[in-house]
Amino acid sequence: MGCNIENAAFSPTTHAEVNAINAAVVAGERRFLAIAVVTENEVPPFPCCICRQSIAEFDDGSMEVIALNTSGTIRKTGFLELYPEPFGSKQLGVDPTKY
Ligand SMILES: [Zn+2]
Repeated sequence: MGCNIENAAFSPTTHAEVNAINAAVVAGERRFLAIAVVTENEVPPFPCCICRQSIAEFDDGSMEVIALNTSGTIRKTGFLELYPEPFGSKQLGVDPTKY
């Protein structure tokens, strides 16, 4: 579980998606089946591009991204449909599931 942590200087802002991933990694998780984002937006947004880059580190090509709002609207897609050519651990020759 995560929440946005805002900062007056925008670059240190951390979004809930990244906080959730970081918390899960600290708890020992390395593989994720899905990530869900809940907002009050009429059209629930998918994660921003900064979050997509963080998510990419843990996607094995099958992760589902779920965006939903408090009114019950649900949108789903595969992570690679949102971010088809991520720069990630493969380009660096590292397998994040092994450390
Ligand atoms: Zn974000």
